[in-house]
Amino acid sequence: MSQRDYYEVLGVSNNANESELKKAYRQQALKFHPDKNPGDKEAEDKFKEASEAYDVLKDSEKRQIYDQYGHEGLKGRGFGGFNGFDDIFSQFGDIFGDFFGGGGQQQRTGSDLRLDISISFKEAIFGTEKEVEVSKHNPCGTCEGSGSKPGHRPQPCRTCRGTGQVVRAQGFFSVQSPCPDCRGAGQVISHPCSDCHGDGRILKNKKLSINIPAGVDDGSRLRLKGEGEPGPQGLPPGDLYVIMHVAAHEFFHREGHDIHCRMNLTFSQAALGAEIQVPLLDDDKTQIISIPAGVQTNTAHRVPGAGVPQLRGHGRGDQIIHLNIETPKRLNKRQKELFKELSEIDGNPIKETLKGFFQKLRM
Ligand SMILES: [Zn+2]
Ligand SMILES: [Zn+2]
Repeated sequence: MSQRDYYEVLGVSNNANESELKKAYRQQALKFHPDKNPGDKEAEDKFKEASEAYDVLKDSEKRQIYDQYGHEGLKGRGFGGFNGFDDIFSQFGDIFGDFFGGGGQQQRTGSDLRLDISISFKEAIFGTEKEVEVSKHNPCGTCEGSGSKPGHRPQPCRTCRGTGQVVRAQGFFSVQSPCPDCRGAGQVISHPCSDCHGDGRILKNKKLSINIPAGVDDGSRLRLKGEGEPGPQGLPPGDLYVIMHVAAHEFFHREGHDIHCRMNLTFSQAALGAEIQVPLLDDDKTQIISIPAGVQTNTAHRVPGAGVPQLRGHGRGDQIIHLNIETPKRLNKRQKELFKELSEIDGNPIKETLKGFFQKLRM
């Protein structure tokens, strides 16, 4: 029985590149896989035939021999014969892992990327949208990711004969290491693509609009699924992690979902009580709060619901206003008289200087 041409078996052209071969083989393998066709001898033969064709054509050294000398050439060099299913599954485990979900193999994806962005205090609290540029690799369109000039194919590496490994003797042992010339790829690009210089990928900037939800904090991490590096051989891309850096605010500071601020009161406001106007987080809004007579320094006043919105769920934290009673530093003549009078009424007439009086107050 004459053997069918390998390219014909897979239904690809003689110039098919690696990804075309893989795609064609996957289709055949899915169709004729023994698990899907139990007891069907013809399907089993077709599956074997396709597996053998792919085994030869995916290997650049075997492929070159086959291209030049056909089936006989392979047998002459000891590549002939296919050793049944054990072989198939060990060699194509990666494909079946992806395709049949077998073997408990981990799904491979492209690498994740990290992007650091700076946002203002209020942007973090109320959310915002940011335009950013992410630099990532894309398959080169000119060579479709192969790295070779259109019309050319990678050639088997001469140093390692396409195996990607070199063996050298070290004492009694022989040590295997990745080939230095092809860096373990087993093939070299003889005619590099002029756009990607043989890499098969091109670094491009991609503009992204990032929606930053209300309530993120310094160091918060957003995950943008699928915005990382593209996966190898058409596998899913990685993710993009966006790390927030939130600027400090001159008046407010944040603790969890609460916002803290500090307001100064004069002696007389503290003693007599007052109404003061306090800035809120929300733009241009203020709130009048009533200070009871006799308030002490470091008293906190809470405005419920004026804090940071919860990232998940509803509601907001509070705004906490810390009251600070300021000791006057300079007094005019009239103020001095009044304070002296006040002091006498208190039953603490001032015998020393005014400075001493304030020092006492501060203690
Ligand atoms: Zn090599
Ligand atoms: Zn290219």
